[in-house]
Amino acid sequence: MDDCVILKDGEHGLKRNEISHQALQVLWRLDEAGYKAYLCGGGVRDLLLGRQPKDYDIATDARPEEIKKLFRNSRIIGRRFKLAHIFYRDVIIETATFRALFDAPPPEAEGIPLPSRRRTDVPDPTFATRDGVIVRDNVYGTPEEDARRRDFTINGLFYNIADGSIIDYVGGLVDLEKRVLRMIGDPETRIHEDPVRMVRAIRIAAQLDFQIEPALWDAIRRLGEDLKNSSRERMHEEVLKILNCGSAKAAFSRSWQQGLFQTIYPSFSAWLGSPEGAASFPWVKKALRQFDVWKQANLKPMPALQHALVFGPYIEARAAELAAEGVPEFEAALQAVHATLRDKSNLTQISKAIVFDVERILSLQVQMRKSSGQSRYATRLRKRNGFEEALIYLKFASGMEASRKDLLERWMAPAQTDAGGDAKGEGGKAEGGASRSEGGAKGEARTPAKGSRRRPRKGPREPKPEQT
Ligand code: ATP
Ligand code: MG
Repeated sequence: MDDCVILKDGEHGLKRNEISHQALQVLWRLDEAGYKAYLCGGGVRDLLLGRQPKDYDIATDARPEEIKKLFRNSRIIGRRFKLAHIFYRDVIIETATFRALFDAPPPEAEGIPLPSRRRTDVPDPTFATRDGVIVRDNVYGTPEEDARRRDFTINGLFYNIADGSIIDYVGGLVDLEKRVLRMIGDPETRIHEDPVRMVRAIRIAAQLDFQIEPALWDAIRRLGEDLKNSSRERMHEEVLKILNCGSAKAAFSRSWQQGLFQTIYPSFSAWLGSPEGAASFPWVKKALRQFDVWKQANLKPMPALQHALVFGPYIEARAAELAAEGVPEFEAALQAVHATLRDKSNLTQISKAIVFDVERILSLQVQMRKSSGQSRYATRLRKRNGFEEALIYLKFASGMEASRKDLLERWMAPAQTDAGGDAKGEGGKAEGGASRSEGGAKGEARTPAKGSRRRPRKGPREPKPEQT
């Protein structure tokens, strides 16, 4: 408590009217009901930096059941730690009860749920650890404990709606000023508790363009392998956050420098580091840069398109190897996607839906190569789910490899409405191909996932011959 810094309303840069009205509504209602109501996490950090927060999190001393009573539009979620989601038309405000800090458990506690040392009035107040990694917790605490169990100092600040003050138990204000990302507590211990914090560190530092504090930087370099203890689903979520954070390229560079990327995707990285794959490094960086440009333009690419673009050169190289061994091209593309994205050595669990859509994007490349772009078959291909993404992939690839430019031109030519004729050999070099291409430049990156819900869950089909 000695170290607690409080900046009164007006002594800091966070203006109440910059907080979303939904978050304000939650804060006010908790406050009026007599509870502590603090804005916390990235919302406070971003507003103090003059950035638009991605979402708003609230911390309170109201228990989840009490929050539920105050907000009819809420639902209690979470198994490990219960918290309330308060639903508005287009946002969810996550509202959590102050959580306790965990002491390192005694060695005999390993794997055994222990009663909380702090409260006895909480249902199921247990936690357990596996090698120091928290696997279960459900213990409420004080605001200070809640701040200290957070990851980085700049993420541990509170904004108190009652008086408009900023409460800083962890030195976050100084670090915001210095533009430094510092772990709360000992980096090694905190990484050991939850290795995903390393990936968060890389993303948040890249996003804010902050320096990672040397002890944290050093710990990440040494402890990268700890990521193997994290849930693969959670790792996948974190990777998606990186792809969409607006600084994906910077995050990639830092994680490559630290060896984290290599730990997460060992085979892909080994290939990128090999003489054969090194030439594709610019492709991967350009793809990540493209995601940042889309983000700037407020466009949301499908995760499958992002995966196709990042892993594309590796997948295509593997497909070429399979084809050289006699596997038909289309089949080779599917096998290569599967082998790359479902590789057991990856630390992310890429969902089946994403893998399926990547299969479509890459196998459509094969189909597009085999078609003139103007036949009946081509017309059907253009209507396929995933064609839009496949065309974006082709556009991107032709920007990287001049050899694909002819193919792109063929497919950018406006599809002839009368596609009944035999288009074989005509090349399709029509003028004014902009209608589909340029017009689509915005819409294409938006690549709505709408089709994905309706489509049957079957693998892409083998291409039929051009003239069917
Ligand atoms: P953004 O929402 O901009 O991606 P954020 O910092 O708000 O960044 P969230 O995932 O929304 O990230 O988490 C909200 C807050 O919860 C964080 O600011 C941090 O205080 C805390 N937090 C999130 N993940 C962890 C973690 N793995 N360990 C400790 N604290 C965490
Ligand atoms: Mg957040």
